[in-house]
Amino acid sequence: MKLKVFVLLIAIVSFFSCKSYKDVDSEFEQPYVVMLSMDGFRWDYPEKVKTPNLDYVEEIGVRAEASIPCFPSKTFPNHYSMATGLYPDNHGIVQNSFYATDIGKHYSVSNRESIIDPDFYFGEPIWITAEKQGVKSASYFWVGSEAPHDGLFPSYHLDYNGAVPFEKRIDGVIEWLNLPEKERPHLIMWYIQEPDGIGHELGPDHFKTGEMIVYLDSLVGVFNKKISELSISDQINVIITSDHGMGQIKKEKTVFLYDLLQKDWCVNVDGGNPVFSIDVKEEFYDTAYAILSTTNNITSWKKEEIPERLHFGKSPRVKDFVVVADSSWNLRKSSKRKAYSGGTHGYDNRNKDMHAIFYAYGPSFKKNYQHHSINNIDLYPLICEILNLKPQKVDGKLENVIEMIERKR
Ligand code: AMP
Ligand code: ZN
Ligand code: ZN
Repeated sequence: MKLKVFVLLIAIVSFFSCKSYKDVDSEFEQPYVVMLSMDGFRWDYPEKVKTPNLDYVEEIGVRAEASIPCFPSKTFPNHYSMATGLYPDNHGIVQNSFYATDIGKHYSVSNRESIIDPDFYFGEPIWITAEKQGVKSASYFWVGSEAPHDGLFPSYHLDYNGAVPFEKRIDGVIEWLNLPEKERPHLIMWYIQEPDGIGHELGPDHFKTGEMIVYLDSLVGVFNKKISELSISDQINVIITSDHGMGQIKKEKTVFLYDLLQKDWCVNVDGGNPVFSIDVKEEFYDTAYAILSTTNNITSWKKEEIPERLHFGKSPRVKDFVVVADSSWNLRKSSKRKAYSGGTHGYDNRNKDMHAIFYAYGPSFKKNYQHHSINNIDLYPLICEILNLKPQKVDGKLENVIEMIERKR
């Protein structure tokens, strides 16, 4: 009799311990990914000033030499490439501002109506891949998350407002991670618009840009601490990256487009310093190309002759000619607009100044691991792998980044 009671007790104990183990295990199988993009954070900024908090991330996780942006190395094309794993040619956001010939509408970062219009966006952003597979997602200002995709949004998203203090954004992300399990997002993408702003204004080498980097690094410290205080902290993977770098420019080194091409030859002029995509009237096509291709300090391609390595020019949204200034040169539309010294980006992505930072830590990442430069289109398959999501067919490849993650149990 006594033996029977003992066996029953063992059975009950092992049933409960088994259940709780399973619960823990199933939570482990669905980790979290929290990805921050700090706009225009050049790959080598941490070598210019002291960044103890990023250095710490490097120690406990992964640092890649750089994250290489897609061409053109501008904010909107690249954030949407990070989200979709696609080249701008394939996701449709080919510039920060452009005329979409296929749908007859203008897109511009400063025109909210266009930003929320789903007709501009192709591909499937990772938050939609997650939502469709039952994983909740959240976006704090990530490009593209304000437009619905197949009628869906991330479970949590906000209208872009650059005035929201960065500290408030940290608290917003932490609040999401403190929600009850059923409501808690497992994928969070969030955004800070510096050091891009100061980098444009004063250039990448200015001491005030350095001060901004030190401040942003301190925010990384605050964020890491708040993450470490969460009960689920050991399940959270943190990625800290950026969309592109920043190149020094001097106002004396400026090429003006309308000094080369007469304004009334042009049908569409998309883009901004230092990269434009231009349609001219048919009768001026040859003349325009002859001028553009023989002008110093810029590189011009016919749409169909853009080098393959740039993966740009197949989209109907790319115009007849793509013109990009050489490193450190400005390319502006009109000489009436004042040129300025400071910084810009948008150059050929072979230019190392265009490369961005990449750091990551958490249970899925190797510790103290140095990785070669990655392409930002590889982030989509990387995050899908960590979150156990079935990825869409994309341009990015998991094999390029698989070495940075721990083998699954
Ligand atoms: P860029 O012209 O390429 O330097 O773009 C950087 C600017 O893009 C930032 O200063 C922000 O003001 C703006 N920006 C970034 N993300 C968003 C967004 N989701 N919605 C609207 N504007 C944004
Ligand atoms: Zn940017
Ligand atoms: Zn910028």
